[in-house]
Amino acid sequence: MSDCLFCKIAAKQIPATIVHEDEDLLAFKDINPAAPVHLLVIPKLHVATLSDCDASHTALLGKMLALAPRLAAEHGCAVGYDADGTPGGGYKTLINSGPDGGQEVYHLHLHMYGGPRPWRGPR
Ligand code: ADP
Repeated sequence: MSDCLFCKIAAKQIPATIVHEDEDLLAFKDINPAAPVHLLVIPKLHVATLSDCDASHTALLGKMLALAPRLAAEHGCAVGYDADGTPGGGYKTLINSGPDGGQEVYHLHLHMYGGPRPWRGPR
């Protein structure tokens, strides 16, 4: 979509700090990070919201979700376990959908927040 901010980032018409790119997805640093690590994972395909997805998007959605733990590991916030099995580290994944869901950019994106607490949000 010609007037979509994230399509422009995917087309490299607007700069972003890109941390991952493949044939279907782009991941880049959020411009206003709400956590020490705050990344956005987008499909290159323009899809406005999660509610605009159907069964044909299942593989794409799976790819987006599967990328999150890989990015977490690359950015130092993977979930790990100490010798007695206590978990540490970790991250949050979030998709805001529509105005009541807090979506501001209408190109599907998965937020990935991580890093040592405290950070401002979302809880
Ligand atoms: P919210 O702002 O409520 O989280 P969204 O879920 O739509 O709404 O998230 C849009 C995200 O895109 C925000 O976290 C915002 O900081 C980020 N953002 C906006 N413009 C850019 C940009 N040019 N580069 C990177 N991130 C951006």
